[in-house]
Amino acid sequence: MEIGLHSVFYGFNYTLFMKQLSLGPMEKMTKEEIAGLVQQGKMLPLMEEFYTIQGEGFHKGTAAYFVRIGGCDVGCHWCDVKESWDAELHPPTDTAIIVDNATKHSDVIVVTGGEPLTWDMTQLTMGLKEKNVQTHIETSGAYPLTGTWDWICLSPKKIKLPQTEVYKKAHELKMIIYNKSDFDFAEEQASLVGAECILYLQPEWSVRDKVVPLIVEYVMQHPKWKVSLQTHKYLNIP
Ligand code: SF4
Repeated sequence: MEIGLHSVFYGFNYTLFMKQLSLGPMEKMTKEEIAGLVQQGKMLPLMEEFYTIQGEGFHKGTAAYFVRIGGCDVGCHWCDVKESWDAELHPPTDTAIIVDNATKHSDVIVVTGGEPLTWDMTQLTMGLKEKNVQTHIETSGAYPLTGTWDWICLSPKKIKLPQTEVYKKAHELKMIIYNKSDFDFAEEQASLVGAECILYLQPEWSVRDKVVPLIVEYVMQHPKWKVSLQTHKYLNIP
């Protein structure tokens, strides 16, 4: 399995990267060496990291440290983090540094993106587990599952369906509802996850006024589903 080769990384802006980071010995590394470390998951294109409250799904209301990894080629038209798509815009960062920063703030680390499974998550989660913190991932499941996860939030997208293994291991299924046809897609995806997987319907934020009444009605008619809202947006926090 060749992790990360589906993401165009080799052409990232090395000069910009060196300006953004001051990493001592790494300044001597070639861009090929850095690309090799990214491919191994020893460095990752870090877009942002922040301590906040998990707003969505089963763990909503829980304080957590978010690590947003750049890179996603799934291409959802309503994506609210399109700036994450191009991994080249985000500095390759030593995975050990990401671990150190994250574990200073919280015992719950949520790895999100972008699509974090674009990259090999083994090194990152190994470092986090060594520090005895909970590892959560938010993924479309479009790429092979790597890493050790205490909680997998699977949010499938029609244009790049999840890998079989991710369906089986998901703890929660979060289906984004943008229009009525998404209910059929949600049912189809729910038939593929394990029996213990918790099922959520979540309105896409930009059409929430239109779809929330549809979701409310649907959940009352089909109570195996629960409603998930992006409560962090109501709280005006990241
Ligand atoms: S999978 Fe996530 S990050 Fe990628 S385009 Fe879709 S919503 Fe955006």
